[in-house]
Amino acid sequence: MTLQESDSRRRLVVDGLVQGVGFRPFVFNLAESENLTGYVTNTSDGVVIEIQGPVDALDRFTIRLLGEAPPLAEIVAVKTNPVDTEPAGADFEIRASVDAPGTRTLIPPDVATCADCLREIRDPADRRYGYPFTNCTNCGPRWTIIGRIPYDRPHTSMARFTMCAACQTEYDDPRDRRFHAQPNACPECGPHVWLEDETGPADDSAGPLDYAARLLAAGKILAIKGLGGFHLAVRADSNNATMRLRRLKNREAKPLAVMAANLEVARSMGTVGTAEEELLTSPRSPIVLLEKTDGGNLVAPSVATGHRRLGVMLPYTPLHHLLFDKLRAHDITTLVMTSGNASDEPICMGNDEAMTRLKGIADSWLLHDRDIVRRADDSVVQIVVQDVVQDLAPNLAPNLADGALLFRRSRGYAPMPIHLKVSPAAGPDTLAAGPDILAVGPELKNTVCLLKEDRAFLSPHIGDLENLQAFEFFTETVATVQDVLECEPRIIAHDLHPGYFSTRWAKEQVSRGAQLEPVQHHHAHLAAVMAEHGLTGPVIGLIMDGTGYGTDGTIWGGEILAGDLTDFTRLGHLDTVPLPGGDAAIRAPWRTAVSYLRHTFGDNLPELPWFDDLPVAAVVEILDKGINSPVTSSCGRLFDAVAALTGRWLEIRYEAQSAIELMALTSREEVAAAEALGGNSSPGAQFQSPDGVDGFIVPVSGIIRGVVEALDAGASPSEISARFHRTLLDFFVAGAREASERTGLKEVALGGGVFQNEILLGQTVRLLREDGFAVYRSMQVPPNDGAVALGQAAVARARWAVKE
Ligand SMILES: [Zn+2]
Ligand SMILES: [Zn+2]
Repeated sequence: MTLQESDSRRRLVVDGLVQGVGFRPFVFNLAESENLTGYVTNTSDGVVIEIQGPVDALDRFTIRLLGEAPPLAEIVAVKTNPVDTEPAGADFEIRASVDAPGTRTLIPPDVATCADCLREIRDPADRRYGYPFTNCTNCGPRWTIIGRIPYDRPHTSMARFTMCAACQTEYDDPRDRRFHAQPNACPECGPHVWLEDETGPADDSAGPLDYAARLLAAGKILAIKGLGGFHLAVRADSNNATMRLRRLKNREAKPLAVMAANLEVARSMGTVGTAEEELLTSPRSPIVLLEKTDGGNLVAPSVATGHRRLGVMLPYTPLHHLLFDKLRAHDITTLVMTSGNASDEPICMGNDEAMTRLKGIADSWLLHDRDIVRRADDSVVQIVVQDVVQDLAPNLAPNLADGALLFRRSRGYAPMPIHLKVSPAAGPDTLAAGPDILAVGPELKNTVCLLKEDRAFLSPHIGDLENLQAFEFFTETVATVQDVLECEPRIIAHDLHPGYFSTRWAKEQVSRGAQLEPVQHHHAHLAAVMAEHGLTGPVIGLIMDGTGYGTDGTIWGGEILAGDLTDFTRLGHLDTVPLPGGDAAIRAPWRTAVSYLRHTFGDNLPELPWFDDLPVAAVVEILDKGINSPVTSSCGRLFDAVAALTGRWLEIRYEAQSAIELMALTSREEVAAAEALGGNSSPGAQFQSPDGVDGFIVPVSGIIRGVVEALDAGASPSEISARFHRTLLDFFVAGAREASERTGLKEVALGGGVFQNEILLGQTVRLLREDGFAVYRSMQVPPNDGAVALGQAAVARARWAVKE
């Protein structure tokens, strides 16, 4: 190519997810097709491209760069500057990465197997036929194999496998789908899979996958090494196999997720609309909670009893696809795939760890020698009623705009950052700049968040910090995010609860020079929504949650706040009751119900037949003496109490079981048509503002009295459920109105675990909007405690900005 008089040269800096996603070969091919010279390289600022040629070709290049980028790339910004032309070089070239600290280049999440790779592993003529570790620049492991940045093979767990000549040729060829695909491998040179039982390698001439399929067909429990950890798998159509897994895993009641062989099988188990299909087949490949249909015999009843929805995912690694191909011979198209752990422990990731920790649960282990460097559980997402939430998310990625409600943000999502939006009205002192901040999250559903510039890196789901393994996973994750992002923030945000593991860990860092920023739990929920939507506030926060430590030392959880990112006021809250026995009441909602009954009826407790055999008198005594009975305004506990009053959920076996199953008894239509409990036509009129209490109190005794009256009149649990939901909605709307009258604010942020309830979420959004409110909710993080770390980080950053 020769230099023309009319040629110009431009330098483009591309910011976003542009590494490990086939971006540079895309740029290479694009430049060649436009006959441009120049180069592309990875730098600490992002991907830098210099292109030289006629102006119209340069313009076309830029347009096509944005329009035709590879499926996994996410371009956040492109800065373009003219630069001096250079003497005619040879062809366009890909230059080696410039390894510099403080990189803004993102680490991609793990990606489900692409269509091209799937075709290859099923093509007997292909050299990767039947190979479980096939991948390319469009798919495969990323986050879970990366030891450190930059993302190059020597920094991954693929470092120990030397590519064969054929693989190396693909890797070096910019026109190949595997150009710089760091985990590139084939049967000649890559990892392999084998089967073990408790006594050691299990030999089988037919091969490990055939053998695994036969074991599963026989109802055995198989531990399968996946992307971000182990799964425990059994055939989902066998009630005996499922029940045995539940018993051994000590997971009696919580629903189990199912992997379906393909989309058609998923459709036969649940309702798959366009948005569900998009999610199921997306590169993120999460568990999608589908509305159950009559699935025939594909799923045993014990997989998800008492639920309207079933968690379904599709195979997302070649190993999964190949295993289902083998299972076809046994007529099996569904597997229960639950995280490989004993109840409440983190998911296993190492071979030895899995052999030890899953001993006594798994019958056999399907292992391989590509090490998992970082844990990542499956993410869980649901689509909520679309007409209600669609237009709340005009600027989000397509898979989040369609009413996606996250329950767990992990594999496929983490470690993609959440960009803190900055409102134009916010002026120069915005959230987007300032020191790095580490937020250590709450106790349950813990995640940690590292805020660097305008990017909030939320870790994969860590879980409940209730045991040593979980706490080790927490410290391991803190170290990981700091390593990977190459920073060690001095500001650490934490929950107010002094007893939380995460709080205690944060306090231990003071001796190392850390500066602490305590953030109230529900303020963090509010701030998480604000940060995601670029709200600077003040706004009203309707935060309906389980448990959070309040500024007054009581347990909050049914809160109506007004606040900005730095501070808040508790405008109102659900009336408080004591929790007899503290955590014991959370496990046994009937105890909570007794407390609400006592709160409502005093000494004249109503007769409820299902309470006859329970030690009610002992609980009353605990309440009277105030023994270990912390006071709470929790909306989650109110759910527990109402559920227990119907006689069904006297004790629960997993967190929020009563609320989830009570919701499953009713529907949006039944709730819309239901009469409120206690006949409160104007709930706002019942709000009280007693002396000595800041804000107003939303009474709960009318609800409890209404439940008892309805039971007396012969109401069924599903009728109670519909009427209770109706009543809560009335109170939510009245609470927002009251808050608005007191403050003049018309923006409401919804947060807290209660808004995982799709009926309450959808209807609250609709009713408040009809009332003239602008309503916001978490879109990229769950509404539950999985959002708390993000909110903590945003609050700490905002407080820093005010101090500066
Ligand atoms: Zn691929
Ligand atoms: Zn090879």
